[in-house]
Amino acid sequence: MGWANSGTLEHGRSLTEGEGVRFMPGRSLHWGTDELVSLLERVGAAMRRRFGARITVGDLSAEHGGPVIRHRSHQSGRDADVGFFARLVTPRGAGAPTDLNDYVSFDANGRSLDGRYVFDTARNWSLLEEILTDRRVEVERIFISAPLRQRLLTFGREHGASSSLLERAALTLLQPRGVSPHDNHFHVRIGCPTGDHECREGVRARRVIRRRPVRPTAGRHASQHDLARRR
Ligand SMILES: [Zn+2]
Repeated sequence: MGWANSGTLEHGRSLTEGEGVRFMPGRSLHWGTDELVSLLERVGAAMRRRFGARITVGDLSAEHGGPVIRHRSHQSGRDADVGFFARLVTPRGAGAPTDLNDYVSFDANGRSLDGRYVFDTARNWSLLEEILTDRRVEVERIFISAPLRQRLLTFGREHGASSSLLERAALTLLQPRGVSPHDNHFHVRIGCPTGDHECREGVRARRVIRRRPVRPTAGRHASQHDLARRR
């Protein structure tokens, strides 16, 4: 019901951990529309089949939707945060795949800012491929930082992806403006399911509220920064 940033969820379903899906530790919002939850289940099963890997899923929505902490959207059961696939850094380059237990930021070269991980471009591209070629669910947007978006599109182009998939990926992947650049996870938003007439795509325009400027203190700045990074 409503918009991703001003909406609710009716008849939602809860995602569960299983063969193809693990939860990001500390994230407890796992409700979504049946379309979103089943998409994640199918994508997880595919990654399990192809790589013996599980997708790492962070927040979806609350049981009945509505505003939640850490996110502006995630209100109508159509948003899901999905962690990146990564490999450990070894002295000889990228090592074994590893499951990340937090959102880790990666730079344009695919190195984590903390120097411990390499962005697993091949598996992250495969994850995108599974999401974008799903036959039952149309994805509206996938938010990701511009450098990682470019890295993924380049990988797809160099590894034989079809022109229709590349075009689809180029149109769907986007670095959002005005919030965190999403250099530490995919934010997947599906389109409005067929027949959900109260569902609204896009975002509801926010009322502009003029606030007096606040002189930031060290603590306030740190916590806002921390919050922004986690969106
Ligand atoms: Zn998100």
